[in-house]
Amino acid sequence: MPQQARRRRRRRGRSPGPSRRVLRRLDKAFSAFFRRLKAKGKAGFPRFRAKSLFDSAEFRVGDGVTIRKSKRLGITGIPGEIKVNWHRDLPAGVKVGAAILSRSAGSWFACFQVTVPDGKVQQRDGTSVGIDVGLSSLIATSDGETFETLPWTKRAAKKQRRLQRALSRCKRNSKRRAKVRRNLARHIAATANRRRDILHKLSRSLVDRYAFIALEDLSVDRLARSMFAKAVYNAAWGQIRLFLEYKATNAGVRVEVVDPRGTSQTCPECGAVAAKTLSDRTHHCECGCVLDRNLAAAKVILQKAVSRMGPEHGLGAPSVPVAA
Ligand SMILES: [Zn+2]
Repeated sequence: MPQQARRRRRRRGRSPGPSRRVLRRLDKAFSAFFRRLKAKGKAGFPRFRAKSLFDSAEFRVGDGVTIRKSKRLGITGIPGEIKVNWHRDLPAGVKVGAAILSRSAGSWFACFQVTVPDGKVQQRDGTSVGIDVGLSSLIATSDGETFETLPWTKRAAKKQRRLQRALSRCKRNSKRRAKVRRNLARHIAATANRRRDILHKLSRSLVDRYAFIALEDLSVDRLARSMFAKAVYNAAWGQIRLFLEYKATNAGVRVEVVDPRGTSQTCPECGAVAAKTLSDRTHHCECGCVLDRNLAAAKVILQKAVSRMGPEHGLGAPSVPVAA
């Protein structure tokens, strides 16, 4: 049937087959490598990806992947349509570029890259807050709110250790090993999802309530080399900051990061600096100021950020003076 053959050829011309898409990715990896070589940066030769590591495929929407009217996905090379559980609608009026289909812990995900038209975000007016991130409580705000460290993470870590032990007991290449490996991956993914969910809600509630947020510029990598490594990673400070920053940008909320040095040693009332050890949970100052340690630090962080911005930003001076 010549007509059908023609149609098939046309379809092939429009959308490269799976192997060509893989080649496109390889080409991308190598051109990035050569660009880095030229720029005299750390070049980093593309890593070999074993079949077992290859868990995602990149498509272009309209070329390889189509979103059907029924909101199902059509993928070239796969007959029929694929039902999708949309976690939210694509925003109206956006240009959809690439789609990445990936497999993670036994589930498949489709991730779309969209171009949103430039919209001007109005700077919001409202109250400001300082946030101290810590190990004893996840965050403490200068308004006296605290958010406790997630209590279930200890249990989750224990289960992870148990599964890892079980995995290491399994015979290599055995069916059981594959099964335990799947269970472990699923557990790790579930823990990460849970943590992300809570941090999203936390950052959302802060961005909704405040117009100015001051944070410490903590180096997670450096702190994680200390004896508190596990607790530091568990607190996920980097993720909190990331979530806060992008949500703030979209909502017209300003986020300011300040130098973390001395924030927990300074008195928010009089500005005096007195050394504290980690076990001092309360801030006692000669001026008579007695506060929770984290609350005091959060207040100092806010003062630092506001004093750096200067009065012309219309934030108003903090309620207490800051010693220079
Ligand atoms: Zn004081």
